[in-house]
Amino acid sequence: MARIVLKFGGTSVGDIDRIRNVARKIKAEVDRGNEVAVVTSAMSGATNQLVKWVNEIAPLHDAREYDVVVATGEQVTIGLLAMALQQQGVKARSWMSWQIPIRTDAAHTKARIVDIETADMARAMKAGEVPIVPGFQGLSPEGHVTTLGRGGSDTSAVALAAALKADRCDIYTDVDGVYTTDPRIVEKARKIDQVTYEEMLEMASQGSKVLQTRSVELAMNHHVRVQVLSSFDAAVGSDLPGTMVVDEEEIMAQGLEKSVVSGIAFSKDEAKITVTRVADRPGVAAAIFGPLADTNINVDMIVQNVSLDGSSTDITFTVQRADLARAVERLERAKVDLKFAEIKADINVAKVSVIGVGMRSHTGVALKMFETLAAKGINIQVISTSEIKISVLVAAEYTELAVRALHTAYELDAA
Ligand code: ADP
Ligand code: ASP
Ligand code: MG
Repeated sequence: MARIVLKFGGTSVGDIDRIRNVARKIKAEVDRGNEVAVVTSAMSGATNQLVKWVNEIAPLHDAREYDVVVATGEQVTIGLLAMALQQQGVKARSWMSWQIPIRTDAAHTKARIVDIETADMARAMKAGEVPIVPGFQGLSPEGHVTTLGRGGSDTSAVALAAALKADRCDIYTDVDGVYTTDPRIVEKARKIDQVTYEEMLEMASQGSKVLQTRSVELAMNHHVRVQVLSSFDAAVGSDLPGTMVVDEEEIMAQGLEKSVVSGIAFSKDEAKITVTRVADRPGVAAAIFGPLADTNINVDMIVQNVSLDGSSTDITFTVQRADLARAVERLERAKVDLKFAEIKADINVAKVSVIGVGMRSHTGVALKMFETLAAKGINIQVISTSEIKISVLVAAEYTELAVRALHTAYELDAA
């Protein structure tokens, strides 16, 4: 008998038939004698619709009210799924996040989970009940509803698995595992049987939305065994048909050869901001990025251009597209102190990244990326690197072309 947390994404619970299908999967795991807790997303499209309404009412909306609205999608699916299970003879009940509670910090729209009280839930599970928990939402210290950022249900599931000390966390989605790149963009993408936490973390943070970044971080820190698999296949999680996210040692212990590059990620969620003619003196970068950090805006890639006249320079950086308006507004407010000439914003950009732990021990990986892009006539606007990834910012219209060319260049194409 194992204790498993099952998470179902939006497409998997996208209509009533699919909710019934999900209930059958849960029942199959219960019938095998497993102790099961379930986390579910809102129906596919539901959260997008809620976000759209919020933006129509007020583009620079109050983050607390945003959460009140967008957290509602998951309330619908937990109730429906609990009913579907009851109809199939499984004891189930829904638990809203404030009923558990799932405690988060107060960073509305991108809150972090700080604690989950599982004693009552564990007791219910021992008594044969399946708890159905809404992903994506939590409870702030002030007692307000929070949300965890788009795709946050993955994080809810992994956090619950860690808190329940579950043997495994199965993330059911609409693809049968983690691929070398998004299989919807590159037909020749290959499924990976095992991926390391580190690589998965980079892939997720560079835009592979199959898992939310924070969920991988949590899995890595709490040693949660995560499996990504499809809710549309016949197999259930205990058959282990998907991609396992594991420690590098576990892969090495099997004597498997790791390829230098294991995956390619891309993100169109980027926006580029250039602040022109800021003073080229100590403290300016801090003066620009300080206010953004205070506003909870993450800055990703940064370049400071060479100062032409020795006194002023341009600083270019990227933020998430959803943060663009807020970032520009915040910088405009700081203009009296910063004394820059202007702010240029560009949303016609995308970030493409190659990722692999093999990069640590191989040279020439970056060169191959630059040559491949050059051969396609794709201009690189900003570059950033870490030990196991290289990212470039390119014009958005070249995203697919760049990803496909790199996938071939690093010999990732399926036969
Ligand atoms: P869910 O609603 O189940 O959370 P998501 O849409 O968030 O599903 O994530 C699944 C999607 O992630 C897939 O449909 C696929 O298009 C996309 N994806 C991006 N990169 C990858 C990758 N490397 N491997 C698998 N899927 C990927
Ligand atoms: N429903 C939320 C979203 O669409 C959370 C999730 O699906 O993971 O972002
Ligand atoms: Mg998702």
